[in-house]
Amino acid sequence: MKQYHPPDPMIYPRFEGIRTFMRLPHITNLEGVDFVIVGTPFDTGCPYRVGARFGPESIRSSSMLLRPYNAELGVAIFEICSGVDYGDLPVTPGYLPESHKQIEIGAAEIYQSEATPIFLGGDHSVTLPELRAAVARHGPLALVHFDSHSDLWQGYFGGKDMNGTPFRRAVEEGLLDINRSIQVGLRGSVYEKGDVEISRDLGFEVITAVELHEIGMKPAIKAIRERVGVGKAFLTFDIDFVDPAYAPGTGTPEVGGFTSAQCLQLLVGLAGLNFVGYDLVEVSPPYDSAEITSLLAASLVYQFISLEAYKRKEYSGRHLSKS
Ligand code: MN
Ligand code: MN
Repeated sequence: MKQYHPPDPMIYPRFEGIRTFMRLPHITNLEGVDFVIVGTPFDTGCPYRVGARFGPESIRSSSMLLRPYNAELGVAIFEICSGVDYGDLPVTPGYLPESHKQIEIGAAEIYQSEATPIFLGGDHSVTLPELRAAVARHGPLALVHFDSHSDLWQGYFGGKDMNGTPFRRAVEEGLLDINRSIQVGLRGSVYEKGDVEISRDLGFEVITAVELHEIGMKPAIKAIRERVGVGKAFLTFDIDFVDPAYAPGTGTPEVGGFTSAQCLQLLVGLAGLNFVGYDLVEVSPPYDSAEITSLLAASLVYQFISLEAYKRKEYSGRHLSKS
């Protein structure tokens, strides 16, 4: 079976070719594929700054310099994994229920294969249909959620679904193993006291931004690992977890966040957890400066891929030889 990996940059320079993530081949037949990059460029679930529809394209463009050996995790990604870029799932801008259905159908098709999807948003509303598809395949999942917002609100403008509501719906639909789920990085102004208490009231463990600054990354990593345990989990990363100084290009920025280095440290610390899906959402290139948000996003997605390689190496002892 053909193993997919990026082309050799010493033969085919990094600035050449069509922009896929890490220059992976654009393939939609997932036979024998271990991980798959998938764009979900829907952004009209954002009530403030739209623009995340251009997130996948921009993250891909900023991924050209990523190299195949992850030094922190000690994984040679493409000696373990065959990876491809699936392209983007179709969406209908301005029509949220229709777009969610399209994303769920597209994601369900991917979950019929053995490939682990890594979704590029899009606003955070896209995580709900991703979770529906993931749970249809795997059953209820632990959620590891990095964000400055809980995204647990009931609704907006008299409607149900926006980028601030996906996890309220996920709880209502029984998609989450709530006793193994955790939200990290919550901060900023809210409407009322209940907005702060809502996460713990619903059963999530929470490490707020203030608490995370206070305790540091290592104890937080330990808490996440203990909370999630060995069962299946989904990792969702809202780029507004990061401080706007490091990630200005996003729909709902909140000051008082975290550095690029702290984000990388947190993700490396999750090695070995059993993630069956990942997403990186809310990158909004129109508000970015010098591509710094996209570059960080691409580097975080690279850590997802590395976690996937680490997991597959650890769980199955699988080690493919390069073809
Ligand atoms: Mn969010
Ligand atoms: Mn957010």
